[in-house]
Amino acid sequence: MKITRIAAYRVELPLHEGSYRWSGGKSVEVFDSTVVRIETDAGLAGHGEICPLGPFYLPAYAAGARTGIAELAPHLLDEDPTKLARLNRRMDAALQGHPYVKSAIDMACWDILGQAAGFPVCELLGGRYGSDFVLYRAISQGEPDEMAKSVAGYRAEGYRRFQLKVGSDVETDIARIRAVSEALEPGDVVVADANTGWLPHEAARVVRGVRDVDIYIEQPCATYEECLSIRRRTDHPFVLDEIIDGIPILLRGHADGAMDVVNIKISKFGGLTKARQARDLCVELGIAMTIEDSWGGDIVTAAIAHLAHSTPPQFLFTATDFNSYVTVSIADGAPQRAGGRLSASSEPGLGVRPRMEVLGEAVFSSER
Ligand code: MG
Repeated sequence: MKITRIAAYRVELPLHEGSYRWSGGKSVEVFDSTVVRIETDAGLAGHGEICPLGPFYLPAYAAGARTGIAELAPHLLDEDPTKLARLNRRMDAALQGHPYVKSAIDMACWDILGQAAGFPVCELLGGRYGSDFVLYRAISQGEPDEMAKSVAGYRAEGYRRFQLKVGSDVETDIARIRAVSEALEPGDVVVADANTGWLPHEAARVVRGVRDVDIYIEQPCATYEECLSIRRRTDHPFVLDEIIDGIPILLRGHADGAMDVVNIKISKFGGLTKARQARDLCVELGIAMTIEDSWGGDIVTAAIAHLAHSTPPQFLFTATDFNSYVTVSIADGAPQRAGGRLSASSEPGLGVRPRMEVLGEAVFSSER
């Protein structure tokens, strides 16, 4: 099988809540997402999606994704999309770094492989566990009582795991964590995610200020070394996210005992192929995972579902259903949350059928 055409589409994804706010005053109101369509000489077409969390979260931005895909596409025509390891080596040889650019291409090729094989992607990623898996809900940064109210509202919809966006001033963050913890019920799990927003002295005060609260602390500071220093000063379970972008940092973090949980975002690793490699390593090392992406719509949510559903439940801390946060559906067949849980499609491939009327005209196309 050969790739005959690669096209990219730009789509805007507004939020049901109006905006999404996290540390450092950062916020997004409308996400800028890119869908990649890969066509083949076998008549199969696959789709992938990349949606950065704005241009200021990771070293990734939406226009950069599209420029990078246009740069890579001519190198991939005539390649076999079902030979995923080879295809990834080809992408890495043609473009140094820029994992997020490669993510949607890799995702689309997994979609093609699944369709060609007649299996849902989760079966090809190792096999489905159980009938569904657990989700978390991100609680946008706001006043402490607002965040507690938001948690109560999403609990009523079935979520039991919550990620609070903190990472601003110490007193308010402590108040946020306390307000939410007072509203919790047995079995609820809460993560305070600072998204690199604290300096070490601030992180040290927050973790001491909430020492009596049963809460996870996520990515308190910007660097690995700063996070490690906080990790060694607290007995809260500890999650690393932004700095976890490949196998070397997973091995280093494991050797240092730097975390209990890591956040595997598909595009941070460069696609399903490399995220799956990291997932399998974490299972072997005994590290639990949140499996998600930077953001996305129906296609990213489908890809997350396949990777999460093929992860042993003991190691799956949480996953995300981004398509329930946004007001626009870009594909039919995408998984839909039920009671705080999600399930991967049982259709071959990713199981999504893009709504071309929503995607509109391709912003870019490269073909034989
Ligand atoms: Mg995080």
